[in-house]
Formats: sequence, C-alpha cells, structure tokens
Amino acid sequence: MNYESDLRWARKQDKEDVLRPFRARFHIPKINGREALYFCGNSLGLQPKTVTRFLQQEITDWASLGVEGHFHAKRPWLRYHQQSKKSLAKLVGAKPGEVVAMNQLTVNLHLMMATFYRPTATRFKIVTEAGAFSSDMHAVESQLRLHGYDPQEAWIELSPRPGELTLRTRDIIATLEQHGSSVALVLLGAVQYYTGQFFDIKKITGAGKKVGAMVGWDLAHAIGNVPLRLHRHQVDFAVWCGYKYLNSGPGGLAGVFVHERHAQDTLLPRMAGWWGHQERERFRMKKGFRPIASVDGWQLSNFPVLSGAAQLASLAEFDKAGIRALRQKSVWLTGYLEFLLRQLPAHETAFRIITPSAKDARGCQLSILMKSNGRKVFERLSQKGIVADWREPDVIRVAPVPLYNTFEEVFRFVESFESAFRL
Ligand SMILES: *Cc1c(COP(=O)(O)O)cnc(C)c1O
Repeated sequence: MNYESDLRWARKQDKEDVLRPFRARFHIPKINGREALYFCGNSLGLQPKTVTRFLQQEITDWASLGVEGHFHAKRPWLRYHQQSKKSLAKLVGAKPGEVVAMNQLTVNLHLMMATFYRPTATRFKIVTEAGAFSSDMHAVESQLRLHGYDPQEAWIELSPRPGELTLRTRDIIATLEQHGSSVALVLLGAVQYYTGQFFDIKKITGAGKKVGAMVGWDLAHAIGNVPLRLHRHQVDFAVWCGYKYLNSGPGGLAGVFVHERHAQDTLLPRMAGWWGHQERERFRMKKGFRPIASVDGWQLSNFPVLSGAAQLASLAEFDKAGIRALRQKSVWLTGYLEFLLRQLPAHETAFRIITPSAKDARGCQLSILMKSNGRKVFERLSQKGIVADWREPDVIRVAPVPLYNTFEEVFRFVESFESAFRL
C-alpha cells in the first residue's frame, strides 16, 4: 500500500489503527488551550493516565503501613525491582535475570564500565561513535583517565565517510578488525540520538566479539522504540533511561542488561552495594560481599519505589500494545512523515532528512537538517503549538510515537513545517 498526501487519507489511517485507543490513555499537553502536536517522546515521554493510580497505591501503603510496607504493601517494596523484569525483558529481548531497573543511565554506564572495561597493557581501547551523546562521552573520557590512559590514544571514534552523515556497518566492522586485539570495549548508542540511525546490533556485536572485545549498547533512544534481541545477539551489557520512550517521568528510573553468561558469574569484579548482595544474608549486615547470581548483583541501593511505580504504569501499556505491533505502526507512521516531507518544495534545498531511509536503520525519529534559518523555523513551529526539539547546530528532531501520535498529527506537522518556511 502507498501513502497519499491528503488529510482524508491520514484520518482513514487513524480510524483503522488498532493501537488508536492507546492515545486516550495518555495526558496530551496543551498549549494555549489546545492539544499540542507532541513529537518529543524521544526526549520526555508523555504521562500514562494510570500513573496516578500506581503512585497512589504506594503513597497509601506508605501512609498506612510505614516501614511494614517493605513486606506488606500491595507490591512489597523489598522486592519491588522484580515487578518490572518481565516487561523490560520483553522490550530488550532478554531473560528476566538479565534485566533490572536501577539508578540513572549515566550512573549505570559507569557501573557497567567498572565491570566490562578492564583494560590490559595490550587491550585498552574504547570504540564509540563520533558525536555520541555528551554524557556518554564524559563517561568514556573519565573512565579512560581513571585507568591512566590518554583519551587521544585509547579512544577510537567512528566517523561517517566524507560527505556522509551516518555510519556504514561495513566501515564500523572494518575499524574493529583494523584495531583488533587492542579493542577492549565497543560502546554505541543503538539508536543514535542526533541522526536517529539504528545500528545493526547483531552484526556489530558479532564483529566486536570476534576481535575479543566487550560490546555494550546505550539504549536511551532504542528501548520502547525498536524491538531488540540482546540475549540472542550476545550483547555483553546495555543501559537505558526511563523517561524517553519508556514514559517513566522526568528523571525516571533507568535500567541495565547484563548477558546471562556474565550475570551469573559472581566472581566478576564490580562496584558493590547491599542491594546486590544475596538476599538471604542482606540484613545480617556482615562484611564479605556475595553478589546475587543475576543482573540483580549489580544493584547498589534499595529500590526507589515511587519512581518504579510510575514506570510500572507505562510498562503495562507496552505489555498491552506489544512492541511488535508498536513497531509495525511506527514504521508506517514515520514512513508517512518522510513521505510528506519529501514532497515539499523545500526538500533538499532548504532542508534534508539525515536519518536513514531504510526502516531497519531507524526507529521512529527523523532528524531534519536545516540548511539555513533552522532556529527560526523551529521557533515558528513552537509558536504553533508543535513540540519537537532543536539540537545544535542545525537539526530539528521529530519523533512520532506509535503509542500516542496519529497520522493526522503528522499531516498537521508537515503543513506547519511548510508554512514556517514561507513566513
Ligand atoms: C538521554 C541520554 C542520556 C541521558 O543520561 P542520564 O544519565 O539519563 O541523564 C545519556 N545518553 C544518551 C545516549 C541519551 O540519549
């Protein structure tokens, strides 16, 4: 089936969309009294209406039970981290013992690097994409320095070919082979935050493992956006945040994946805290750390229940919708956005889409590179009640999210985008 460029067609798609009922389950922000066109779920996901109920449960249990809530709350706080395992495992393609919600993304990145970046005299390099998210770059730089390395010598940044804006899998693999046994860790953003490129996790992980490196993925823009198969693809570890596509609220709970083959290895060095200690002995308060033989062994502190409750509300929506159905709509919806943008007279002259066109090489986000006046166009969009985001120096990121965005909204966005050039 093909796309058509009139509003009637967009409305028909919405009518036939089996996921359409999910939109009503989210709070849509208003601007000047009207529902915003919210395309910013890649930055802060919208609030599921059930969040209030999930939070209320914990607040009520806290009020009525006090400390006893650890055992007698509806969802006992002592083992609250178990509540989200199944849903998270489905989203990243893992076993429940391989995923746990904890901390924030950058903290988790450091915890994972403490275990999986173990440089030796000959194998000490870290490979990332050039222009990675700043926090990831700061984490990598500081880890290198912690181990006494000069980032200039020990950090390999993958850049696109001259004249290109995204990376070719073939080139990534060639770089890994070239540096071979000197590579200790490969760390990439699975969906690159700036370009929206979705990397080939299977092939890149395979190539990294082949040269003997550890391979970790930052899923900040991937979890809840694209289906993942971390276990099957032999990924060593992954980290994510909860407030983007996972809709867990500002500063929401993040999480990690550690592959079973490492997760069960209690001898692996790590940063330790009491919540990672074997549950039976945790409250004996003795010296001698003995980690839980799963990813839970990387937990440090007791679980942030209020944050976790908000996340459960959103994960229940993902469970109901299913990531496969979401992805199917997402491919169709983002394809529609691309179709409409490419029809505009300004396409290629005033702007271009830098996100790959192949559906397997992107999630729902399209990054629009503005050749001039980008900031101005973006501000005009904001004035019209459109929430997208601006990334320096010249990109507007637009993310139609299949849980709550519609075809009509995409149509309206492109309409406004076009008139923003003409003003
Ligand atoms: C959003 C994002 C972060 C944010 O890090 P926090 O620790 O959650 O503040 C880090 N890395 C990437 C790739 C991101 O997209």
